[in-house]
Amino acid sequence: MSDCIFCKIVNKEIPAQIIYEDESVLAFNDIQPQAPIHVLVIPKKHISDMASVHGEDFLLITTLFKTMQKIAQEKGIEDEGYRIVNNCRDNGGQTVGHLHFHLIGGREMRWPPG
Ligand code: 5GP
Ligand code: ZN
Repeated sequence: MSDCIFCKIVNKEIPAQIIYEDESVLAFNDIQPQAPIHVLVIPKKHISDMASVHGEDFLLITTLFKTMQKIAQEKGIEDEGYRIVNNCRDNGGQTVGHLHFHLIGGREMRWPPG
């Protein structure tokens, strides 16, 4: 999508600190990190949000979770643990309309979320 900020990151039209990339997935540091480790993991294909995932696109979700597990291992936060967040649409607090998961770690998290 031409006006989507994360599609622009996928297309290298705007810069990001890329952590991992393959043919279907991109992972990059969040511009406003909420913890020592805060990585956004996205499908390269534009899907607007979790509620819009259908059919074969669910295979991408598996790929995104595998990627997050691998990044957590590489970042050394597997043993201590981490949090994965998806904000979906307005009530979920989603601000960027391209499906993404937050991989957050490096500190203890609190619950419940705000
Ligand atoms: P959401 O609130 O939609 O779940 O999360 C969007 C996230 O994208 C936020 O944590 C925000 O800091 C991050 N973000 C927004 N614009 C940019 C950008 O241009 N570059 C990067 N790296 N992160 C961004
Ligand atoms: Zn997009």
